[in-house]
Order: sequence, then structure tokens, then C-alpha cells
Amino acid sequence: MTRHRIFRAILPAASLALIVAAGCATLSAAQAAQREDNSPSATSVSTAVVEPCPMAIANPPPVGADGKTIGGPLVVLNGVELLLQPATKVCLSSGYGQRNGRAHRGVDYHTRTSGDVLAAADGTILEATTRADFGAMIVIYHGSSVYTRYAHLASFSAPAKQGARIRRGEVLGPIGATGATSVRHLHYEILSGTYVSGVGSFGLATHNPFGLPSP
Ligand SMILES: [Zn+2]
Repeated sequence: MTRHRIFRAILPAASLALIVAAGCATLSAAQAAQREDNSPSATSVSTAVVEPCPMAIANPPPVGADGKTIGGPLVVLNGVELLLQPATKVCLSSGYGQRNGRAHRGVDYHTRTSGDVLAAADGTILEATTRADFGAMIVIYHGSSVYTRYAHLASFSAPAKQGARIRRGEVLGPIGATGATSVRHLHYEILSGTYVSGVGSFGLATHNPFGLPSP
């Protein structure tokens, strides 16, 4: 199963400030981290390296030297660092490329339990809509002509509103099976280009996340 760890580096600075202000300077780093983990305000982000699901998957990307993991936690496009796997409690269920004679322009992360969809990087939510094909779908603009799309959410979280600023690791909503799918999974796209009003995110170019370099 996929393992998850806490991406402590991006914990809100406020959490650290609180600990310092409370006079906990003698806490060991491990104790401090544990305290932050237990804080309800702490932002937890999966930094688990990507692992394929146990079942056979379409377009499997190459695995690493350990024969199991694929990469992550971050990839870079136009200088923007993005989570390769912006979700919790998932495994990779489909890679990018041709699948059953059709182009699969994203990658799929399947959850068997109750995983969440996370923002891959800081940005502004351009689209938070429900469509017949992608179900409950979010598109975020990260600057430098870089965008990400998240599809098939079960619902939208409170911060996931069109026009809202969002931080890396914030929950966009639970992974679902809305739209044209029967399997609970996140369809994730990394996009670039010029966002043209009227065409929106569907005028952008897609990228193979597993073809992008690490920071
Ligand atoms: Zn997909």
C-alpha cells in the first residue's frame, strides 16, 4: 500500500510561531513535529513517492531502481513546483498517453478508502464546476502559464471556490466517482499555455507528469 508522510516543510509558519511563543524551545525536533502533526490547523500533505496500484495499470511509467516506486514528491514545469501525486491514500491506476485507442491526457490515482484531493501548488482557482465527463472538476492557475486540473471529486471543500486563492496541500475535496466514471479516482492533469476566455482550460496543452523533471 502507498505510504504517506507529512510534508513538514510546508506546514504553516503560524504553527511554528505558536510553538515558539508558547515557550516550547526545549522540545526536541521530533516532539515538535509530533505536536505539529496533532495540530488541527496543520496542513498535511502526502509526499509519498508514487506507487502503482496492485492491479495491472494502463500506460505504466517506468519504476525506480527499487522496482516499486515511480517518483515524486515534486516535479517542475516553467519553474513551478507541483506535487506529482496531489492526493492522499492513493495508488497510481493509470499513466499518461494512449489508452484503448484514445488519448489519456492525465494520470489517475485510485483510492480504496477515503482519500482527498490536494492542491498541487499555490495558486488561484479558475474553474470549480460540474461537468458530465469530468464530474466535479477544479482547475488552478499557478502562475508562469502553468495550470492543474482535478476531476471526479465527490464534492468541493469549503476553500475550493472559483476565484479563491489556494495553498499547496489544501484539500480541494474528497476523491469521488462523479462524471463519466464508475471507479473512485482522481484524474489529474498538468497543463500549460494561455488561458483563453470561452475556451478555458480545454485550450491548454497537457503534459505527462512522469516526463517532467524533479526540482
Ligand atoms: Zn484519467
